[in-house]
Amino acid sequence: MSELKIIDSDLTLRCENIFCIGKNYADHISEMGDNVLPEEPVVFLKPSSSLAVNPETVTIPSFAGRKISDDLQNEVELVVVIANDCNNVSVSDADDFILGYAVGIDFTLRDLQSQAKRQGLPWTLSKGFRSSAPVSEIVLKENISDVNNLNISLSVNGEIRQSANTSQMIFKIDYIIHYLSYIFGLKKGDVIFTGTPSGVSRLSAGDVVKAEIESVGILEVKVE
Ligand code: MG
Repeated sequence: MSELKIIDSDLTLRCENIFCIGKNYADHISEMGDNVLPEEPVVFLKPSSSLAVNPETVTIPSFAGRKISDDLQNEVELVVVIANDCNNVSVSDADDFILGYAVGIDFTLRDLQSQAKRQGLPWTLSKGFRSSAPVSEIVLKENISDVNNLNISLSVNGEIRQSANTSQMIFKIDYIIHYLSYIFGLKKGDVIFTGTPSGVSRLSAGDVVKAEIESVGILEVKVE
Protein backbone atom coordinates (compact mmCIF):
# COMPACT_ATOMS: atom_id res chain seq x y z
CA MET A 1 0.00 0.00 0.00
CA SER A 2 1.59 3.22 -1.05
CA GLU A 3 -1.21 5.82 -0.88
CA LEU A 4 -0.70 8.64 1.63
CA LYS A 5 -3.81 10.12 3.26
CA ILE A 6 -4.45 13.72 4.27
CA ILE A 7 -6.21 14.19 7.59
CA ASP A 8 -9.87 15.32 7.54
CA SER A 9 -9.96 14.96 3.77
CA ASP A 10 -10.74 12.37 1.11
CA LEU A 11 -7.56 13.31 -0.73
CA THR A 12 -4.85 10.74 -1.19
CA LEU A 13 -1.40 11.10 -2.66
CA ARG A 14 0.75 8.36 -4.14
CA CYS A 15 3.91 7.82 -2.12
CA GLU A 16 6.95 8.02 -4.36
CA ASN A 17 10.39 7.74 -2.79
CA ILE A 18 10.97 7.20 0.92
CA PHE A 19 14.12 8.99 2.04
CA CYS A 20 15.36 8.41 5.57
CA ILE A 21 17.90 10.46 7.50
CA GLY A 22 20.13 8.60 9.94
CA LYS A 23 22.19 10.05 12.79
CA ASN A 24 20.16 13.25 13.14
CA TYR A 25 19.97 13.44 16.97
CA ALA A 26 23.22 13.47 18.97
CA ASP A 27 21.85 11.38 21.85
CA HIS A 28 20.85 8.58 19.45
CA ILE A 29 24.29 8.68 17.81
CA SER A 30 25.88 8.12 21.24
CA GLU A 31 23.51 5.33 22.22
CA MET A 32 24.56 3.52 19.04
CA GLY A 33 28.17 3.68 20.28
CA ASP A 34 29.33 6.44 17.97
CA ASN A 35 30.59 9.91 18.86
CA VAL A 36 31.13 11.46 15.46
CA LEU A 37 28.49 13.91 14.28
CA PRO A 38 27.87 13.72 10.50
CA GLU A 39 29.07 16.61 8.33
CA GLU A 40 26.16 16.13 5.93
CA PRO A 41 22.89 14.19 6.36
CA VAL A 42 23.21 10.38 6.35
CA VAL A 43 20.69 9.19 3.75
CA PHE A 44 19.18 5.79 3.06
CA LEU A 45 16.04 4.65 1.22
CA LYS A 46 13.09 2.37 1.91
CA PRO A 47 10.97 0.89 -0.91
CA SER A 48 7.47 2.37 -1.28
CA SER A 49 6.11 -1.11 -0.36
CA SER A 50 7.37 -0.46 3.19
CA LEU A 51 4.84 2.36 3.63
CA ALA A 52 1.64 1.74 5.59
CA VAL A 53 -0.85 4.39 6.74
CA ASN A 54 -2.03 3.71 10.31
CA PRO A 55 -1.41 -0.04 10.10
CA GLU A 56 -2.69 -2.14 12.99
CA THR A 57 0.35 -4.38 13.17
CA VAL A 58 4.00 -4.80 12.23
CA THR A 59 5.59 -8.22 11.75
CA ILE A 60 9.14 -9.42 11.29
CA PRO A 61 9.15 -11.08 7.85
CA SER A 62 9.68 -14.82 7.55
CA PHE A 63 11.66 -16.46 4.78
CA ALA A 64 12.24 -20.18 4.24
CA GLY A 65 10.15 -21.00 7.25
CA ARG A 66 11.72 -18.73 9.85
CA LYS A 67 11.77 -15.11 10.98
CA ILE A 68 14.68 -13.23 9.41
CA SER A 69 15.42 -11.34 12.68
CA ASP A 70 14.71 -11.45 16.38
CA ASP A 71 15.51 -7.81 17.14
CA LEU A 72 12.77 -5.47 15.87
CA GLN A 73 13.32 -1.94 17.24
CA ASN A 74 11.31 1.31 17.39
CA GLU A 75 12.48 4.67 15.97
CA VAL A 76 9.92 7.48 16.21
CA GLU A 77 10.48 10.13 13.52
CA LEU A 78 8.90 13.30 12.20
CA VAL A 79 7.94 12.67 8.57
CA VAL A 80 7.89 15.38 5.88
CA VAL A 81 5.79 14.98 2.71
CA ILE A 82 6.80 16.83 -0.46
CA ALA A 83 4.18 18.84 -2.38
CA ASN A 84 5.82 19.40 -5.76
CA ASP A 85 8.65 18.12 -7.91
CA CYS A 86 11.79 20.14 -7.30
CA ASN A 87 15.53 20.22 -7.93
CA ASN A 88 18.29 22.40 -6.49
CA VAL A 89 16.16 24.11 -3.83
CA SER A 90 17.79 26.74 -1.62
CA VAL A 91 17.44 26.46 2.15
CA SER A 92 15.27 29.58 2.19
CA ASP A 93 12.87 28.22 -0.46
CA ALA A 94 12.59 24.71 1.04
CA ASP A 95 9.36 25.39 2.91
CA ASP A 96 7.56 26.11 -0.40
CA PHE A 97 7.87 22.43 -1.32
CA ILE A 98 6.45 20.94 1.87
CA LEU A 99 2.89 19.61 1.79
CA GLY A 100 2.72 18.58 5.42
CA TYR A 101 3.92 16.34 8.20
CA ALA A 102 3.12 12.96 9.72
CA VAL A 103 4.23 10.78 12.61
CA GLY A 104 6.35 7.86 11.44
CA ILE A 105 8.17 4.90 12.89
CA ASP A 106 11.34 3.75 11.16
CA PHE A 107 11.07 0.10 12.24
CA THR A 108 14.51 -1.46 12.20
CA LEU A 109 15.78 -5.04 12.42
CA ARG A 110 18.78 -4.06 14.53
CA ASP A 111 20.57 -7.42 14.43
CA LEU A 112 20.56 -7.37 10.62
CA GLN A 113 21.60 -3.70 10.54
CA SER A 114 24.53 -4.33 12.90
CA GLN A 115 25.60 -7.30 10.80
CA ALA A 116 25.39 -5.20 7.61
CA LYS A 117 27.47 -2.44 9.22
CA ARG A 118 30.15 -4.95 10.28
CA GLN A 119 30.26 -6.51 6.82
CA GLY A 120 30.07 -3.21 4.90
CA LEU A 121 26.77 -4.28 3.27
CA PRO A 122 23.64 -2.22 2.54
CA TRP A 123 20.99 -1.64 5.23
CA THR A 124 18.03 -2.37 2.95
CA LEU A 125 17.00 -5.68 4.50
CA SER A 126 17.07 -4.26 8.03
CA LYS A 127 15.20 -1.06 7.16
CA GLY A 128 13.04 -1.71 4.12
CA PHE A 129 10.90 -4.74 4.89
CA ARG A 130 7.11 -4.70 4.41
CA SER A 131 5.35 -2.23 6.77
CA SER A 132 8.68 -0.98 8.15
CA ALA A 133 7.57 2.59 7.38
CA PRO A 134 4.20 3.17 9.09
CA VAL A 135 2.93 6.76 9.04
CA SER A 136 -0.06 8.62 10.39
CA GLU A 137 -2.31 10.70 8.14
CA ILE A 138 -0.71 13.92 6.89
CA VAL A 139 -1.29 17.22 8.68
CA LEU A 140 -0.98 20.12 6.23
CA LYS A 141 1.95 22.41 7.04
CA GLU A 142 -0.34 25.41 7.56
CA ASN A 143 -1.51 23.76 10.78
CA ILE A 144 1.96 23.55 12.31
CA SER A 145 3.33 26.80 13.71
CA ASP A 146 6.96 25.78 14.31
CA VAL A 147 8.04 22.38 13.05
CA ASN A 148 11.46 22.88 14.66
CA ASN A 149 9.97 22.93 18.15
CA LEU A 150 7.66 19.95 18.58
CA ASN A 151 7.72 17.37 21.35
CA ILE A 152 8.28 13.88 19.94
CA SER A 153 7.85 10.70 21.96
CA LEU A 154 7.23 6.98 21.83
CA SER A 155 5.90 4.60 24.43
CA VAL A 156 5.78 0.81 24.56
CA ASN A 157 2.85 -0.65 26.52
CA GLY A 158 2.35 2.77 28.10
CA GLU A 159 5.99 3.18 29.22
CA ILE A 160 7.86 6.12 27.66
CA ARG A 161 10.98 4.98 25.79
CA GLN A 162 11.73 8.00 23.57
CA SER A 163 11.12 11.62 24.52
CA ALA A 164 12.72 14.60 22.78
CA ASN A 165 12.01 17.75 20.79
CA THR A 166 12.49 18.36 17.07
CA SER A 167 14.68 21.36 18.01
CA GLN A 168 17.38 18.74 18.76
CA MET A 169 17.66 17.67 15.11
CA ILE A 170 21.21 18.19 13.83
CA PHE A 171 20.06 18.93 10.27
CA LYS A 172 16.82 20.90 10.13
CA ILE A 173 14.08 20.13 7.64
CA ASP A 174 14.89 23.04 5.31
CA TYR A 175 18.51 21.90 5.05
CA ILE A 176 17.49 18.25 4.47
CA ILE A 177 15.21 19.30 1.58
CA HIS A 178 17.98 21.53 0.17
CA TYR A 179 20.46 18.64 0.37
CA LEU A 180 18.19 15.93 -1.08
CA SER A 181 16.92 18.22 -3.86
CA TYR A 182 20.45 18.91 -5.09
CA ILE A 183 21.58 15.29 -5.06
CA PHE A 184 18.49 13.23 -5.89
CA GLY A 185 15.82 15.75 -6.83
CA LEU A 186 12.50 15.46 -5.01
CA LYS A 187 9.07 14.48 -6.34
CA LYS A 188 5.53 15.21 -5.30
CA GLY A 189 4.62 12.44 -2.85
CA ASP A 190 8.15 11.83 -1.63
CA VAL A 191 8.33 11.07 2.07
CA ILE A 192 11.28 12.00 4.29
CA PHE A 193 11.88 10.35 7.67
CA THR A 194 14.00 12.87 9.58
CA GLY A 195 15.80 10.70 12.15
CA THR A 196 15.15 9.40 15.64
CA PRO A 197 16.15 10.56 19.12
CA SER A 198 17.57 8.18 21.74
CA GLY A 199 15.56 5.40 23.36
CA VAL A 200 15.42 2.83 20.59
CA SER A 201 14.67 -0.58 22.09
CA ARG A 202 13.98 -4.21 21.31
CA LEU A 203 10.31 -5.04 20.90
CA SER A 204 8.45 -8.28 21.62
CA ALA A 205 5.35 -9.83 20.09
CA GLY A 206 2.26 -8.29 21.67
CA ASP A 207 3.92 -4.93 22.43
CA VAL A 208 1.80 -1.87 21.67
CA VAL A 209 3.99 0.91 20.26
CA LYS A 210 2.55 4.43 20.42
CA ALA A 211 4.36 7.28 18.68
CA GLU A 212 3.27 10.86 19.19
CA ILE A 213 4.33 14.25 17.85
CA GLU A 214 2.83 17.41 19.29
CA SER A 215 0.26 18.99 16.90
CA VAL A 216 0.95 16.32 14.26
CA GLY A 217 -0.69 13.21 15.64
CA ILE A 218 -0.46 9.75 17.10
CA LEU A 219 0.49 6.48 15.45
CA GLU A 220 -0.16 3.22 17.28
CA VAL A 221 1.08 -0.13 16.00
CA LYS A 222 1.02 -3.55 17.63
CA VAL A 223 3.92 -5.95 17.19
CA GLU A 224 2.62 -9.25 15.88
MG1 MG B 1 15.72 6.08 11.72
